Amino acid sequence: MKRKISIIGSTGSIGTQALEVIEKLGDRFEILALAAGSNIDKINEQIAKFHPKYVSVSKDADKVIGCDNVLIGQEGLEEICSNTQNDIILMACSGKIGLKPTLTAIKNKINIALANKETLVMAGDIVMKLAKENRVSIIPVDSEHCAIHQCIKDISQVSKLIITASGGPFLHKTVEDMKNATVEQALAHPRWNMGPKITVDSATLMNKGLEIIEAHHLFDMDYDNIDVVIHPQSVVHSAIEYVDGSVIAQIGLPSMHIPIQYAICYPERFEGIKSKSFSFADIARLDFEKPDYDKFKFLSLAYNAGRTGGSATVVLNAADEEAVFAFLRGEIKLYDIYQITEDIYSNFEHISNPDIDTIFEIDKEVRKKTNELISRRYACLNI
Ligand code: NDP
Ligand code: MG
Repeated sequence: MKRKISIIGSTGSIGTQALEVIEKLGDRFEILALAAGSNIDKINEQIAKFHPKYVSVSKDADKVIGCDNVLIGQEGLEEICSNTQNDIILMACSGKIGLKPTLTAIKNKINIALANKETLVMAGDIVMKLAKENRVSIIPVDSEHCAIHQCIKDISQVSKLIITASGGPFLHKTVEDMKNATVEQALAHPRWNMGPKITVDSATLMNKGLEIIEAHHLFDMDYDNIDVVIHPQSVVHSAIEYVDGSVIAQIGLPSMHIPIQYAICYPERFEGIKSKSFSFADIARLDFEKPDYDKFKFLSLAYNAGRTGGSATVVLNAADEEAVFAFLRGEIKLYDIYQITEDIYSNFEHISNPDIDTIFEIDKEVRKKTNELISRRYACLNI
């Protein structure tokens, strides 16, 4: 029987690659719904090719062509995620938009392929508890977490998670180089072609920070047992250490098609988009090094936020996202993203166990404060 799937964020980097996977998998999947933000031309192309029963966009619904059921905004996402015809939903939007629809899908007992890491960073405790109560599987799409998922047989026997990081475009550059980096340089990731927000986070290694928090929630692992290692070739996608010291790693040439395919097909595996065969001899050399915590300060901040828990990761996520947007608009420098985030983070009152409404209130307040700080202290001053 065909698996019914909906994709939230179908027009983005993960969304478009997911559609390539689904196309390659032939008649194994049927697309129930596609949801996008504002890229109407792309969603119209996708409708013509994949014939979803439902489409949701954040605006300009009247410009959507070829689908009888066009939904709009957050309500549209909620409607898609409460449709129990879905066998699986791929959460491929970026930012906080994914959180509420994910909770709705879980409440409706729909399995999730999760790319949207912000969902777990903002509300990992709530999301994972709800998933457990509803016996819903959350299969990670993020390549490191997907790798770990593939390595684990029995989580109770795992003593450590080892998350690899390519190091981004500034790995061997100086702090001065980073300070003067242009938007173009920050977006030139050496290994992965991704959306702009995650690409900037990969340049500052904040993305790895978010992934530490994501891993803590997905695999219920203490922060003391989550390590990060720099691995510029991005061939070892991550590893786990068992209690007896054995290390199991997942290896493959870098491509997001493979983790996307793994997550939406789980627990089955199909050839679909097959990775080029891996040759140890051709690769010849794999490098690993410790991260430079003085240069990539976000790593320590993320460990701190994760260990603090509660509102701390919500603040970290929101302040960083607003600062990244300001950098992409050319209002601040790359290194200011950390300064701003750290400033907001260390001055925000801590709340221990926020519920979902409180999380969204904190998120809103942090974004407001971050933008005020940017316009007061940074914008147009040091560019
Ligand atoms: P992109 O910026 O490329 O795509 C974001 C998607 O979200 C677009 O389809 C966009 O639509 C959609 N979107 C924006 N606003 C809304 C809205 N209001 N309602 C519905 N959809 C909306 O991001 P990526 O694909 O790079 O990343 C997506 C998520 O996956 C992020 O959380 C990221 O951290 C994670 N991830 C990404 C990886 C990658 O390789 N790209 C790897 C690992 C994780 P539109 O363009 O139409 O506005
Ligand atoms: Mg990743």
